[in-house]
Amino acid sequence: MKDLHNMSWYAKQIHPKLDKDIFKPAPTRLIGGLIYLIVVAIGMSAVVLFDINIIGKLAIALILGFSFGSMGFLGHEILHGTVVRNKWLRNFLGGIAFLPLSVGPRLWVKWHNLNHHAHTQDDEKDPDAWMSLESFNKRGFIKLVYKLPLWFRSLFSFTALSISFTLHSVRMFFVYFKELVEEKSISTWFQFIFPWTFWFGLLAIVGFEKWVYIYLIPVLIGNLIVMGYISTNHRLNPLVPVNDPLANSLTVTVPKWLDVLHFNFSYHTEHHLFPGINPKHYPIIKAHILELWPEKYHQMPLFAALKALWKTPRIYYNDEELVDPHKKRVYKSLANGLKSNNIKPYKLVKDN
Ligand SMILES: [Zn+2]
Ligand SMILES: [Zn+2]
Repeated sequence: MKDLHNMSWYAKQIHPKLDKDIFKPAPTRLIGGLIYLIVVAIGMSAVVLFDINIIGKLAIALILGFSFGSMGFLGHEILHGTVVRNKWLRNFLGGIAFLPLSVGPRLWVKWHNLNHHAHTQDDEKDPDAWMSLESFNKRGFIKLVYKLPLWFRSLFSFTALSISFTLHSVRMFFVYFKELVEEKSISTWFQFIFPWTFWFGLLAIVGFEKWVYIYLIPVLIGNLIVMGYISTNHRLNPLVPVNDPLANSLTVTVPKWLDVLHFNFSYHTEHHLFPGINPKHYPIIKAHILELWPEKYHQMPLFAALKALWKTPRIYYNDEELVDPHKKRVYKSLANGLKSNNIKPYKLVKDN
């Protein structure tokens, strides 16, 4: 891969073109969060207090799940410090927004801000990056999984998106546990235990049948929504030796109304370029990127990106391509012309 630049190289060129107000925090984003909080409180109370039929309860669970996902997107921008600057308030509000997905603010900042953003698509340092063929060859269990056909693995991994955010966040807690505890052990434990105590406490109060509709189904839907975006953020891009947001990130496009409801989370390249700017300004950043580096910028509709994910394996070959080691098929990544409507692998000649 040639012509890679780090984020500050790009940011330096866009920075002078931006109005300085764009760098200010955007506390009005909390209005959206408050609306979601009210919707969640009304939905949960309705299921608990009234005798609603199953269709009504499923509809409420769907609304709750959608709200859980959206609150996670708001929590993400709050914890980047783009909504309020005060650190205590930032952590408090971020903790509330991430409560449905049970992620504590200190863990999120460590995992996402300090590691994912700092080392994006570095297969050893980015906690969200997928493995290279070299790491794959050392992992016996994954090698067995890869003997299953691609369609079956895709079906399994797409179904697992409904639990994978929660599972990954619990794993991250144990990955960063030592460093977090060294800094502040009581708050680390409190932030990890509190959400689970809250949700399982609710189970003890309302009983299993109602809990399924106010938490279990909604959290599966919330996982599915956030992972629907997160899985497309970088997984079609190459692994990179330089943290270049135009090479290692993908912006997906969704209808405008969905961008409003999901707090512009779709603009992921813009986010990696300016994580300190509130996402409400990302359409402006996108216009500047398209003006300066249109040939480097990757974007595609969300469903096209999901389709491309379905049709490709998740093991990196020579950093720039994706490989199905058992079938010995190699697929292009966004670095070398992956097109969602024309995915054709070529046969790997070298024996691995
Ligand atoms: Zn971020
Ligand atoms: Zn990212």
